[in-house]
Amino acid sequence: LKILFSSRIEAPERWLPLLQSLLPEDEFVLEGGNDIDVAIVASPHPGVLKRLGNAKLIQSLWMGVERLLEDPDLPRNVPLARLVDPGMTAAMTETVLAHTLDWHRRLYRYREQQKTRTWKRFRQYMASDHTVGILGMGALGTAASRPLLDLGFKVVGWSRRAKTVEGVACYTDLHEVLLRSDVVVCLLPLTAQTQGVLNLENLKKIREGGGVINCARGPHVVRDDLIAVLDSGHLAHAWLDVFDKEPLPEDDPLWTHPKVSVTPHAAALTEPRTAVVEIAKNIEAVRRGERPPHLVDFQAGY
Ligand code: NDP
Repeated sequence: LKILFSSRIEAPERWLPLLQSLLPEDEFVLEGGNDIDVAIVASPHPGVLKRLGNAKLIQSLWMGVERLLEDPDLPRNVPLARLVDPGMTAAMTETVLAHTLDWHRRLYRYREQQKTRTWKRFRQYMASDHTVGILGMGALGTAASRPLLDLGFKVVGWSRRAKTVEGVACYTDLHEVLLRSDVVVCLLPLTAQTQGVLNLENLKKIREGGGVINCARGPHVVRDDLIAVLDSGHLAHAWLDVFDKEPLPEDDPLWTHPKVSVTPHAAALTEPRTAVVEIAKNIEAVRRGERPPHLVDFQAGY
C-alpha cells in the first residue's frame, strides 16, 4: 500500500520509523497525488485532503476529528478513522482521576491555604459519598469510569444512545446526570449538539460545592457562565485543559481566577509507541478489505 503521512504539527521522524517497522512491505511518502491508499493525517498540509478521493482510508492521528470534519476538502466517500490510542486513553484516565481526587480530597483548597500559611482541615468524605458525572461515555469516558468505580465513587454517564457500562448509571438525558453529579467530567466530542453544553442553566444543575473538569474541547463550556457559577459559590472549582482559543490568551480571566486550574491542552497526548500499533491494525484491516473500527459517523459528526 502507498501510505501518505501529512501533518503540520506531528513530526514524521517521530512516527515513520515506528510505522515502517510494523508495516515493512508498505511504501510511506510525505507527499502524494491521487494514488494514495491510506493517508495518516493531523492538521494535514494544504491541498492534501482534496487529492484523497481514491483512498481506502483516512486515519486521523488524533481522537477528536472536528477540525477535519469542518474542512470542505475532506472527501466524504472515504472512511475516516479516529485514533483510539491506548497510551492516550491511559493518560486521560490518569488526568481525570487526578482532578477528581484534587476535588474530593480538597487539595486545591489546601494549596490555596498554603499561600497564607493557614492550617485548617476540611471535613473528610468517602469516595462513596460522591458521584462523578461523565459527559461522553465513549472510549475515554468509559475508560475513566473504571478506576473511579474501583475507588468507590458512584459514576453516572451521559451518551447520545442508550448504553450499558458495568457499574455506571447511564442516561441519555443530560438533566438526570447533572442533578446526580458532584463533579462533572466532560469527555464529549465537539459537535453542533454538544457545543455550549456546560452553560449557565446546566452548570447550576450540578450539586452545590461541586466541580467541573473539561478535558474535551473548549467550546463545550460557556466561559462567562462558568465564571458566574464559580463566583456565585455554587461550584467550588473548575479544571480546564481546553479553551475556545488556544493557547489561552494572556488577558483571559481564566488564567487568574482563584477557582480555576488551567492546563495547556495536556490532559492526554497521542503516544506514538501505542498509537502506531492501532494504526497498523487499521491498515491491515484495509489490506484484507475490511472496515477498521472507530470510523467517524459523518452524520453524527464524531
Ligand atoms: P468517542 O466517540 O469514543 O465517545 C464520545 C461519547 O460522547 C460517546 O459516548 C457519545 O455517545 C457521546 N456523545 C456524542 N454526542 C453526544 C450528544 N449529542 N449527547 C450525548 N452524548 C453524546 O470519543 P472519545 O472518548 O474517544 O473522545 C472524546 C473527545 O475527547 C474527543 O472528541 C476529543 O475532542 C477529546 N479529547 C481531548 C484530549 C485532550 O487532551 N484534552 C485528548 C483526546 C481526546 P454514543 O456512545 O451514543 O456515541
